[in-house]
Amino acid sequence: MDVCYKSEIIESHVVFISFEQIQDMLIDNHGREINYLRLAVTDRCNIRCFYCMPETGITYLPKQELLTYEEIERLITLLARMGITKVRLTGGEPFVRRDLMKLITRIVRIPGIRDVHITTNGILTAPYLPELKNLVSRQLT
Ligand code: SF4
Repeated sequence: MDVCYKSEIIESHVVFISFEQIQDMLIDNHGREINYLRLAVTDRCNIRCFYCMPETGITYLPKQELLTYEEIERLITLLARMGITKVRLTGGEPFVRRDLMKLITRIVRIPGIRDVHITTNGILTAPYLPELKNLVSRQLT
């Protein structure tokens, strides 16, 4: 399951579901349980790989179009009740988003979430390594 921006969430009505309404597991068209969520926290990156971004002319989403950390936490909490156990944070480059560690720490604590992964180019991660190391015991990879 890929979740990126508010418009997609609103289309699937996930934001407006109450905890009491969450009962069903997520099933794909082939009857398989969906337990994996990929979530883009930003469309920005600190570099520009030629196969990913043009040299010029990128129009980034306005900040208000991105899910807030509170919205992401609530969304994952709801999805965890529907069987999501693994979350991968992507971008763009996730670490260009301010205070990403706060979000990661919150996600790791959500009941039912067993694995948290980050797709990163690694350039900005060095200052966060001690914090990330502390979270490894919670299965962050
Ligand atoms: S590091 Fe990843 S997100 Fe950034 S430009 Fe390269 S491929 Fe795209």
